[in-house]
Amino acid sequence: MDTRVHKVAFEDIVEAQARIRSHVFATPLVTSPTLSNICGVAVGLKLEHYQATGSFKLRGATNAILQLSAAGLKKGVIAASTGNHGRALAYAARAAGSRATICMSRLVPENKVAEIRRIGADVRIIGNSHDDAQAEADRLSEQQGLTALPPFDHPHVVAGQGTIGVEIVEAMPSVATIVVPLSGGGLIAGVAAAAKALRPRVKVIGVSMHRGAAMKASLDAGRPVLVEEFVSLADSLGGGIGLDNGVTFFMCRDLLDGVVLLTESEIADGMRHAYAHEREILEGSGAVGIAALLARKIPNLVGPVAVVLSGRNIDMDLHRRVINGERDPFGGDV
Ligand SMILES: *Cc1c(COP(=O)(O)O)cnc(C)c1O
Repeated sequence: MDTRVHKVAFEDIVEAQARIRSHVFATPLVTSPTLSNICGVAVGLKLEHYQATGSFKLRGATNAILQLSAAGLKKGVIAASTGNHGRALAYAARAAGSRATICMSRLVPENKVAEIRRIGADVRIIGNSHDDAQAEADRLSEQQGLTALPPFDHPHVVAGQGTIGVEIVEAMPSVATIVVPLSGGGLIAGVAAAAKALRPRVKVIGVSMHRGAAMKASLDAGRPVLVEEFVSLADSLGGGIGLDNGVTFFMCRDLLDGVVLLTESEIADGMRHAYAHEREILEGSGAVGIAALLARKIPNLVGPVAVVLSGRNIDMDLHRRVINGERDPFGGDV
């Protein structure tokens, strides 16, 4: 067995819950009458886009920051990010009296970069892919002695995201299926570890965008593989899982019951449904769970279903265009 492989246990998630409780919002799980009607089973929405930084990533970042030593906090932390982890880490670092350096590629939307700057992080824009940004974060971490707190492949980050799974089971004790946006897999690995510890029969389904679904390609290959990165409505789902992945690949391999892939226009439909029928503003990545239900892409769907709405940090002009009917603003569907 690879000694770098680390799996997060249910106990780690329970400890994370106690650690972060006073720092993050235990978000509500609300029933969606429209989606329940469409799907023919009860559907609840876990409103993680209501976190202070607009995405669930505050949970993992906070759980990681709160375990640093005084010396580690003084030196500061560093990460590569597609935007939402950077914002969460910048926020959690500032709250703990520390400082964050965030490396992002040119693919990260300007609204996300601006918000991270506003929080006071040191922002580095580098390269044309998340992998380029990750290489820069690795280099700076080494050179400046900053603690690397990556967006998904870290046990403290996964344990923090796993607190969502505990809350879902508490709010919906009979939950049969949990639908979760999937990129590097920190969110779904944590949610699945928690939910399956409490409800061993629950099915956990990941949702990614069609082009550049790194975890799906890696699971199919049986090992972490590289994928090309594209501009997408689901910008938070871009980027590789790391060829040296040591946590999330193995947890996803062992815990997931399926992965669904969506086109750009299906993601747009999810955003539009969220706005028109749920009265929720979601970024593309945050809407993929709803989109997967609308596209009827989950075979043999068993209810009750919980869907994680993961983020809302979208440029509002882009959101308006999608709501007004644009289905593929980046030309991703061919
Ligand atoms: C990061 C992110 C995801 C994917 O999370 P992973 O842990 O990388 O799988 C999904 N939605 C939003 C809004 C995100 O910011």
